Amino acid sequence: MNLHEYQGKSILKSFGVAIQEGKVIDKVENALSAAKELSAETGTEWYVVKAQIHAGGRGKGIVAETGSHGVVLAKGIDQLEEKVKGILGGHLETAQTNGVGKKVNKVLIAQDVYYPGESETSEFYMSVLLDREAGRNTIVYSTEGGMDIEHVAEHTPHLIHKEIIDPRVGIQGFQARKIAFNLGLSGQAFKEMTKFVVQLYSAYEGCDASMFEINPVLKTSDNKIIAVDAKVTLDGNSLFRHSDYAAMRDKTEEDPTEVEADEAGLNFVKLDGNVGCMVNGAGLAMATMDIIKLSGGNPANFLDVGGTADAERVAKAFNIILKDPNVKAILINIFGGIVRCDRVAQGVVDAYKSIGTFPVPLIVRLQGTNAVEAKKLIDDSGLDVQSVVLLQEAADKVKEVLA
Ligand code: GDP
Ligand code: MN
Repeated sequence: MNLHEYQGKSILKSFGVAIQEGKVIDKVENALSAAKELSAETGTEWYVVKAQIHAGGRGKGIVAETGSHGVVLAKGIDQLEEKVKGILGGHLETAQTNGVGKKVNKVLIAQDVYYPGESETSEFYMSVLLDREAGRNTIVYSTEGGMDIEHVAEHTPHLIHKEIIDPRVGIQGFQARKIAFNLGLSGQAFKEMTKFVVQLYSAYEGCDASMFEINPVLKTSDNKIIAVDAKVTLDGNSLFRHSDYAAMRDKTEEDPTEVEADEAGLNFVKLDGNVGCMVNGAGLAMATMDIIKLSGGNPANFLDVGGTADAERVAKAFNIILKDPNVKAILINIFGGIVRCDRVAQGVVDAYKSIGTFPVPLIVRLQGTNAVEAKKLIDDSGLDVQSVVLLQEAADKVKEVLA
């Protein structure tokens, strides 16, 4: 589950990680009081106004309605309302929003932390994530903070470092010191960074995250180390033990069809192909998607109906798949192990009838317990459903209907 910056920062703070402080608002009227409250805590009257959307690159992004960037500085409280108006309620387009602006429902009014002082500020990159190859949590970091890390990885890969954490002992002091050293720090900033790294890693473990990306981590001009940005992804499977985090879910940021599927208990991921699929079991779903590819089509979705493929669930799944105007055919591939194929077939027939006029060709392959009875049931239904037995036949049919 992805979080907004302000939510990620609140989690970081709860674990003692130093952050750029801020107040989130969803109405322009609340900007001044939020800013005053913030200034009372931080002592500064310079602010940064930051759009809260689930996408990075906000600083360079543009709000379609106003031309404002998604992260802007307000040098004084008199500038604040104007800057908030430029962002809040608009549609922000960034390099990560795939050509469509994302509605900004909230903005974070944060303290300006790039103030002048005895030394220069520096921006670093730091993320914590599971390295699947190493099978361990890993801290990825770089001196090249504040910019697109993919760009750094492509052009100057030697500037990206990794520190793998042994789960048996957790992060060690020498590892935190190595990171601070590789980031070129010394003195007070070095000490602050070792503390920051240890706390950041504890936060990552403590909140059951699957990714933290802090870009930039800032060394302020008075040698504090703070998280200026926070992209936090929590492990959805752990939310049952964090009801406070579960409440942070922002469904307006998610694909509406995926939200609907989730509420119906269907495991659904939207893809951009032309063949809808309905399958039971994730492994079979993957294999079915491969078969669709091999037959010249492209899967329009991943959909695992789970163990109980009854009429109601099948009908719900049909509705969800058919919402996608790109779908030119639907392939149902169900293995009847515990659930009997004839029951599924009855479900398919009932659901098919409930749709009225079914808009695309439907190919059904039922294999396993009572597969023969199932095929007969579909063939005798008089409906325009093509039932097949072998996976290859299913693939050929897909090819045929797409041609
Ligand atoms: P992103 O563009 O979505 O990654 O949003 P960030 O939170 O990383 O902010 C973008 C950029 O705004 C940062 O890289 C900083 O350069 C700048 N920025 C963020 N906070 C401040 C601040 O307090 N003062 C100033 N002057 N710039 C800031
Ligand atoms: Mn950033």
